[in-house]
Amino acid sequence: MSAIAEIVRRLEERYGEANWSPRWNPEDELVACILSQHTSDVNSFRAFDNLKRRYPAWDEVIAAPTEQLADTIRCGGLANSKAARIQEVLKIIREQEGSVDLSRLKQLSDEEARRYLMALPGVGPKTAAIVLCFALGRPVIPVDTHVFRVAWRLGLIRKQIGEARAHDALQEKVPPEIVYNFHVALIQHGRQVCKAPVPRCYDCPLTDLCAFYAEKSGSKS
Ligand code: SF4
Repeated sequence: MSAIAEIVRRLEERYGEANWSPRWNPEDELVACILSQHTSDVNSFRAFDNLKRRYPAWDEVIAAPTEQLADTIRCGGLANSKAARIQEVLKIIREQEGSVDLSRLKQLSDEEARRYLMALPGVGPKTAAIVLCFALGRPVIPVDTHVFRVAWRLGLIRKQIGEARAHDALQEKVPPEIVYNFHVALIQHGRQVCKAPVPRCYDCPLTDLCAFYAEKSGSKS
């Protein structure tokens, strides 16, 4: 078993096994992602909920006065820019697809779908990866702050490459069949044990596989 597979196995033993099923459709996932930028999960989920209650159809979001949409999602932060960005993205999708519907992405390869999403304004590698992974079940790793921190501490990537380039570096290393499990396991571990700024190594099942721990214990001896 590879070191990465062993990491996932041990973390799943601790946190439970992740089984992929689509959370939302790709359009919902994309809008939820835009709302999640620079805010907490709680606030962005609340903003998404408010948006869906007020405008049950995407065409209504496009037609809404931008200030009214901004008021609706205000609790998610950066409401004015996010409202304008959401309307812009939805309009482009409607122009390209005939309606606000991204189900055609299912027929594209991972790379084609990634390129399509990243051509939309404000959609970077992380947002594209979240849509591909969570809505479409593609073996693409979204690298958020937890995944990045745990991965560099374990020694899977170098910290210096930064979050943006970590995606490609991890994508090359993690076997496609465990990408989703890897992502979920590292998030759980980053939230609960391998925290920023100080990891709780005394409670970690990965000490023998961890570069950060090896360095820290070596420097102590
Ligand atoms: S040993 Fe410490 S630094 Fe390494 S993964 Fe575990 S908690 Fe994080």
